[in-house]
Amino acid sequence: MSSHTVLITGTSSGIGLEAAVAAARAGWTTIATLRDPERAGALRAAADRAGVTLDIRQLDVTDPASVTAAVEGVVADHGRLDALINNAGAGHVGTIENETVDDVRRVMEVNFFGVVQTTKAALPHLRASGGRLITVTSVGGVVGQPFNEAYCAAKFAVEGFMESLAPVAGKLGVSVSVVEPGAVATEFVNNIGLDPERLLAAAGDYAEPLQKYVARTQGQFARSAQTPEQAAVTVIEALTAERPAFRLQTSAWALAFTATKLADNDGSAVVALTGGYLG
Ligand code: NAP
Repeated sequence: MSSHTVLITGTSSGIGLEAAVAAARAGWTTIATLRDPERAGALRAAADRAGVTLDIRQLDVTDPASVTAAVEGVVADHGRLDALINNAGAGHVGTIENETVDDVRRVMEVNFFGVVQTTKAALPHLRASGGRLITVTSVGGVVGQPFNEAYCAAKFAVEGFMESLAPVAGKLGVSVSVVEPGAVATEFVNNIGLDPERLLAAAGDYAEPLQKYVARTQGQFARSAQTPEQAAVTVIEALTAERPAFRLQTSAWALAFTATKLADNDGSAVVALTGGYLG
């Protein structure tokens, strides 16, 4: 495997950081990318602890020039690209009456168009290598959840995009998978920049269900969040399994949760389940 090259987006923390270290440990030449290379301290420290070497490069998924430069630079320097792991993403909490359409667009920019941009840049090289396209989506890419309209819309969009691309890319030798985590204890929640008190104060008629949603989510993270190392195991499974599934969940909880939707033809089970979050 040592000649095999994987590029991962969003490796400054969390699942991307752990997946980069695990891929290098599994023998892959690993290009760990970040939008701000000055934030590579935790990544470098984790690589040192694991005794692995990473090729760390700049890549902002919302900046087309940066995406092209990173992907073409990797192919120029390593001669090939065998896998892309679209991991970069950012959460968002809100509901449409209390935010602007531009807020929603920004969420789509990072979580959807960022994936589209990076995928487009990588595909010719993945076709050349008979490689793999792996995208970290979310259980929120299958089940819409309260106050996650924009985030879930973006992750649904990614799932629809990849589910549509999978059979086409498969015909040309590229395997496509999505990885669906549930709650994972990373910087994800902090990076949303959520101030629950301010959010509630501005929520108007939505304050009561929002309060219930926030309390339930905080409880779920405290009780049952996976570690990013655990979630990264499934990413590496998608990278290394002989024939990875299209859809992989990172935990038994994520499997059960998405099964609610995937067996729910009329959508009633999901709406009853998530409606229950709101009391
Ligand atoms: P995280 O620790 O916040 O990591 C997210 C990574 O994405 C960071 O490295 C961040 O970089 C990067 N990123 C954000 N915007 C970017 C951009 N424009 N260009 C390049 N990189 C960018 O959270 P995580 O939990 O590991 O998230 C990884 C993936 O898992 C995301 O796609 C997320 O949606 C998904 N996920 C997470 C959870 C969860 O509970 N944690 C659950 C389901 C799905 P900066 O440091 O520069 O911000």
